[in-house]
Amino acid sequence: MNDGNYEALPDHGKEEITGMLSYNLKRVCVKKLLKKENPAVPFGGKYRFSPYMACGHRCTYCDGRYEKYHVEGDFDHDITVRENAPELLEKELQKLREPGPVCMSSGISDPYQPVEEQLQITRQCAEILSRFDHPVIIHTKSSTVLRDIDCWEEVHRKSAFTLMISLTMADDSIRSRLEPGASSVEERLNTLKEFRKRGMNAGVLAMPFVPFLTDSREQMGEFLTVLKSAGVQFAMPGLLTLKQGRQKEFFLNTFKKQYPDIYGKIVELYSNRNFYGNPASGYTKSFYSRIDTIWTEHVMDDLIPHSLFRGQFSLCDEISILLGDMIKLYRRGGINVTRLKTASRKFSRWLEPRRTYYARRRNLKYLALDEELKAIAEANELEELLGNKKLAVFIQRVIRGSVFNYQTLELSP
Ligand code: SF4
Repeated sequence: MNDGNYEALPDHGKEEITGMLSYNLKRVCVKKLLKKENPAVPFGGKYRFSPYMACGHRCTYCDGRYEKYHVEGDFDHDITVRENAPELLEKELQKLREPGPVCMSSGISDPYQPVEEQLQITRQCAEILSRFDHPVIIHTKSSTVLRDIDCWEEVHRKSAFTLMISLTMADDSIRSRLEPGASSVEERLNTLKEFRKRGMNAGVLAMPFVPFLTDSREQMGEFLTVLKSAGVQFAMPGLLTLKQGRQKEFFLNTFKKQYPDIYGKIVELYSNRNFYGNPASGYTKSFYSRIDTIWTEHVMDDLIPHSLFRGQFSLCDEISILLGDMIKLYRRGGINVTRLKTASRKFSRWLEPRRTYYARRRNLKYLALDEELKAIAEANELEELLGNKKLAVFIQRVIRGSVFNYQTLELSP
């Protein structure tokens, strides 16, 4: 996404990068790099940045082509390089006050896309991140992330490193059509295995599943089996969205040539012109119900487990995330979440003004807010804050170190 916050450097024109493909590189200097995510989420971390805009992985479904993201030119070949990203990262990391993971990711780019092999901007950022003690999250479709495993091991030794590889299928012949510039299925699975073998966290962004092509019960079952054998800790599923305009047109034009037999069904499914590009609601409902069944059968988390993000955020953020996840988990289990939602809103109403207060006073230590919450818990006043006795006991145990299991819905110890 063009955040409108950069100055263009002289255009270096067309540069031969791989010998097979060429890219137009637009080198820019940004004024600010890290964007704070609000609310914090384990998926996207607390702070996010991307060294590039646009992407040479050339995924046919990529919604980076959507006009509202303002990525100009040929999305697959005209790559914007944030050349001063390493320099800014180093400066901005020193000034961060709130704890939380730094996530290298963007919906419209990939930090390990082909140009990175030569430009090494991500490598420079990895070296800087390895000198700090912030947790790091990387989203990618490339096994090139293995090149920097020395840096990521160092990050994990000091705090926590989580690799999130994007993958939705076990069949590489489909992958090579939908994601022609990205790593093969085997390369991505081997990458996940290697990170797990070295003790780091690894999960899968299992999105987007393409209706009628990659989302059958059998395909998803086989997919989860290979993820399990790679040691993957979670797989977050999502369905293809096609937003009106360039993204939808590009996908449908390519898909028509690749899968003429399914093309008509896809056109019909996405003919509703939904603002977010969602398919017909009945299909979405049946897809997520199938996901629930298959994920449960394979004992795979579809959210990032509490045990994994525990300790990476401030305690206040951790509890906000946990409450949001509990609402999703209980609702899915058919449990009435009205009281839980009310308590969650009360917690936000308590937290947000304090967050603003601490943000404005740079002389205050942000973690004092966590201390305030702990003091409330120790004084047995959480019930008053949340308006929910059972939840107050639950949160008190979390504050004392218990972890919530998303499969069994139990706290331990
Ligand atoms: S890797 Fe991500 S950003 Fe790159 S083309 Fe594929 S979907 Fe788009």
